[in-house]
Amino acid sequence: MQTRTPLIAGNWKMQKTIGEALALVNALRSNLSNVKAEIVVAPTYTALSKVAECLQGSNIGVAAQDLFWEDFGAYTGAISAPLIKDAGAKYVIIGHSERRQFFGETDVTVNKKIKAALKHQLIPILCVGETLAEREGNLVQQIIEEQVSRGLYQLTQVELKDLVIAYEPVWAIGTGKTATPAQAEETHVLIRNFIAAQFSQEFADRLRILYGGSVKVANCKELLALKNIDGALIGGASLNAEEFSAIAKSVA
Ligand code: PEP
Repeated sequence: MQTRTPLIAGNWKMQKTIGEALALVNALRSNLSNVKAEIVVAPTYTALSKVAECLQGSNIGVAAQDLFWEDFGAYTGAISAPLIKDAGAKYVIIGHSERRQFFGETDVTVNKKIKAALKHQLIPILCVGETLAEREGNLVQQIIEEQVSRGLYQLTQVELKDLVIAYEPVWAIGTGKTATPAQAEETHVLIRNFIAAQFSQEFADRLRILYGGSVKVANCKELLALKNIDGALIGGASLNAEEFSAIAKSVA
């Protein structure tokens, strides 16, 4: 039987000054020294290196929230994989729906970013998810399979060995609406089966698939108990040390 270490990741988005970020991770460090899950936080770029420094020697890893696919050059405002590595991150979130919605991210740019991350040994957390209109139009399977296959285009399971996928229904992000456990599990199974068909059953069995979308203390237990949900990507509730810690501790 395949065992997948649960991953609880906090996406802080455009929140927290450096001082606030350090206060949060100091609290998490002491709250979460004994949890069973792997823990990751994704601060803003400006706080990344200080947060990584503060978490050295702890069981909490650091992710960037995005990256640009070129390594260096005249790309004003962009941050690359080597710069993110240098700041101390291990993971990078790619294809978050807010990047797709507000910054023109497409499956093609997602694919370039995943390749750039892998080239520099950063672990990608690929975000996929349908809008409400797509769910209501019965397009969930089509949309998710397109996002996964285009995002992972021309990559092998060896290159993708540590990949994490986060299923985040767009209609559940920051809205207070959560997918029902049945809806979430059904989509996670769909993703795992698609990965098995595209790559191999062995790779699909190892792949961690996180759920994201208004995860909070009140709903985390039943979501995280599901067979195909291997953790959570958490926005709002990750900004509060007590709440994020309670979610991480709820992993059985
Ligand atoms: C997210 O941004 O990845 C997210 C899931 O946000 P929230 O938990 O606030 O819905």
